[in-house]
Amino acid sequence: MAADIMPLSGNLDWREKLSKMTVPLPVSSDPLAMSCLKSLIENGRVSREQGIRLFENPSLSSVTSLANMVKKSRYGNNIFFNENLHVNTTNICVLACRFCAFRKGPRHPDAYALDIDEYLGRIRPLSSSIDEVHTVGGLHPNWDVEDYCRLFSATKSEFPDIHIKALTAVEIKHLSKRSSLSVENTLSMLSDAGLDSLPGGGAEILVDHVRDRICMGKESSQEYLDIHAIAHNIGMPTNCTMLFGTVETIEDRVEHLIRLREQQDFSNGFQCFVPYPFLPDKTRLPDAQLATGSEIIRVISVSRIMLDNIPHIKAYRMNIGDKLSSLALTCGADDIDGTVGHEEIMHVAGSSTRLDTSSDQLAALVSSTGSTPVKRNSNYSIFEIYASSNPSFSRVLPQIAPN
Ligand code: SF4
Repeated sequence: MAADIMPLSGNLDWREKLSKMTVPLPVSSDPLAMSCLKSLIENGRVSREQGIRLFENPSLSSVTSLANMVKKSRYGNNIFFNENLHVNTTNICVLACRFCAFRKGPRHPDAYALDIDEYLGRIRPLSSSIDEVHTVGGLHPNWDVEDYCRLFSATKSEFPDIHIKALTAVEIKHLSKRSSLSVENTLSMLSDAGLDSLPGGGAEILVDHVRDRICMGKESSQEYLDIHAIAHNIGMPTNCTMLFGTVETIEDRVEHLIRLREQQDFSNGFQCFVPYPFLPDKTRLPDAQLATGSEIIRVISVSRIMLDNIPHIKAYRMNIGDKLSSLALTCGADDIDGTVGHEEIMHVAGSSTRLDTSSDQLAALVSSTGSTPVKRNSNYSIFEIYASSNPSFSRVLPQIAPN
């Protein structure tokens, strides 16, 4: 069954729809929320100052209620997910970002680098039930663009219908340097080999003095944006992210959102924004402030209010868990991680999100929020209301045998 609200951006006249919605009490009783609602309807967007005040506003409920209004004006009751698989190519990395628990040096006993057969072997068992493979990894000291072209060509050759979403901006930069190619030529070669879109990882906070403290040596804020702009320019869609709860201020978070919003005004290729908090296990960032549950929800809500030109906001359950994700779906997020199947980066840093969630269970999680689960493809161009064969979210829990 085709879902009813379905261009990439949802309702194109969402501001008009917003202007006609019943304003819930938490919004109508809060002057700041009302001023933001007015700005969205009349001016199209909220200002930097309003964004900062939304973060400082003591009323969380007014912020989440406003974000939920915006989400509903765009997508009604629909919540999107896809059926995908994460495969990481290597954890060997020439950098050592302080927030990263995933990377290993090349001689570390747990270091690995998949060859093409191993990579395809990860996809093969699930190839009939997924339509996307999501692949990121470390900056391998020896791999160049040809290595990834061979990998993507082999993947498309065996699985022509699986969308390849792979390589963060810093990986693209690394490959272009290793191969002495421009970023544009690097992306074009990868695209010709089968790369369909870029994930958003690596944005962290797009403020360079923060990046210097948490990920020295990574691409600069401007380089991150430029690489995504080049991808957009050759017709390759991308996502964007924000890692919060390290050492950034509220002003830094708002600056991050505004830089993404301005980039989107210019290149218009971001499909989805994925905010997630820092997870501290096995990292080297003792000065991180860490984010509370209410802060995580607030970031998602403020993102929905501020990023008027980025279509989708994702509840990244691999990081924030299923429980907080379900709450986020009523606070501005319209998209939730897919089936995923395998995930290392967040789990090595402390995530305990289960990796065996089926489409039925995911749909049941969405339905439990009063929303309609809608299965989507990677480009948000094909949608289907998910008809679950098992509407229960129950699991069979492992039992310990009595002594
Ligand atoms: S975040 Fe990426 S670039 Fe930084 S150390 Fe980890 S794997 Fe390497």
